[in-house]
Amino acid sequence: MTLFEKYSDTVMDMGKEVTGRIKGASEIAKLQYELKTEEINLTTAYKELGKKYYEEHKGTGEPDPELEEIEAVLNKIADIKANIDELTGSSTCEKCGAKIRKSDSFCPSCGAKVNNIFEDDED
Ligand SMILES: [Zn+2]
Repeated sequence: MTLFEKYSDTVMDMGKEVTGRIKGASEIAKLQYELKTEEINLTTAYKELGKKYYEEHKGTGEPDPELEEIEAVLNKIADIKANIDELTGSSTCEKCGAKIRKSDSFCPSCGAKVNNIFEDDED
């Protein structure tokens, strides 16, 4: 084997190695993408299961820290929404969830009577 043949063999080997590495990298990227997708699917499934569990167990008085945590977060969300409504002069229909003006007596979306919490309580 001449020096040149030896050299070109080395170059060929290096080429194969690089090609192999690129193939490996794209395979890894593909697997990582698949992994991410499946992890998202898992998170979505857990979320649905959690929602179902919450719907089935809320208000049962079961001492469950997870239920209490969800309750606390829901209360926080309601508070924040109420603050936004207050600042934007809007409200939310209790029946259909549509945005309504404070001054509306009926929901323009579903026609439900608006219990306007900003006016005097009649009860
Ligand atoms: Zn409505």
